[in-house]
Amino acid sequence: MPYMSIIPIRAAVLRTPGRPLKIERLEMEGPRDDEVLVRVVASGICHTDIDFCQSGGSGPVVLGHEGAGVVERIGKAAKGIKPGDHVVLSYQSCGHCRPCRTGHPADCQRFWEANFGFARLDGTNALHGGVRGHFFGQSSFATHALITMRNLVKVPKSLPLELLAPLGCGMQTGAGTVMNSLAVRAGSSVAVFGAGSVGLAAVMAARIVKAKTIIAVDLNDSRLKLARELGATHSINNRWSDLAGSIKAITGGGVDYIVESTADHDMEQSAAELLNPDGKAALLSGASAPGRLPGGRQVLSVIQGDAVPQKFIPNLIKLYQEGRFPFDRLVKFYDFTQINRAIADSKQGATVKPVLRISNEGNVR
Ligand SMILES: [Zn+2]
Ligand SMILES: [Zn+2]
Repeated sequence: MPYMSIIPIRAAVLRTPGRPLKIERLEMEGPRDDEVLVRVVASGICHTDIDFCQSGGSGPVVLGHEGAGVVERIGKAAKGIKPGDHVVLSYQSCGHCRPCRTGHPADCQRFWEANFGFARLDGTNALHGGVRGHFFGQSSFATHALITMRNLVKVPKSLPLELLAPLGCGMQTGAGTVMNSLAVRAGSSVAVFGAGSVGLAAVMAARIVKAKTIIAVDLNDSRLKLARELGATHSINNRWSDLAGSIKAITGGGVDYIVESTADHDMEQSAAELLNPDGKAALLSGASAPGRLPGGRQVLSVIQGDAVPQKFIPNLIKLYQEGRFPFDRLVKFYDFTQINRAIADSKQGATVKPVLRISNEGNVR
């Protein structure tokens, strides 16, 4: 009989959409040959988690997709990692399709099922008791996560894991959209719609690539103030101001690049209308984008900033260490038991990036 270990874990379970998450004791299978068991130290909360809390999965699920932790156990086929290593968890991809094989895992043909299928790609689920996991290949609102080498990024032990957690989705998406998807040029103009964690990561990245004009757009003045501190040269509160008129007053026309992170339909429409000729806009909501428009303009639908996590996240860590990507300014920490409060604070805009402290970095269970 094959040996199969069972790991007792605690996880925040969504049982009814719209209702609070409840921390429950569950059992999880130990790692398969290609899997790695990680003790989760911290997890960021991202808007996709919050959207699922409202809309629900199919039956009880464990969310969370910005985990960071310590490797506890590795499957026989997992290479280049050992127990005790520190890791940041990112999105999952299949590793076999053409985009995966050519270095574009964010375009994985099985992206949807690998990240939102609440199962391994073979359809199995490691959680027992009728609860489904494997959200983004991790389900990090839990004391332990089963991941693979494809969504694991080894990180230096010199930085606290609880700080690094949000790099796996929100920071990567915002910065990757500017640096990879749009490839923003030095001296250009960029507007960032939405000054949440993704938008603010885009603002910091626009400053790194030396955009000349960086315009942050949001409904919340305190977030706009933070955007200016992080590199925005201008800000527009579109609750009170006319967006097109304000942009024209700043640039004399449109903008060269737009990062649309609000998922608001009118803002997505505006993104197409406010571009300069040959300009590019990125929609981050998953909405289908028109692609090419008159005048050489392009509107793209972007996932995870087209980033390869194992390359991009170490780069963000280096920029942070150089003081050029101060994403720690966005983070507020909560105990794991305060998860529902952290979600409420994020929804109300009081916290930009909530991070849950789930266990200590030291070897405790
Ligand atoms: Zn996310
Ligand atoms: Zn793939």
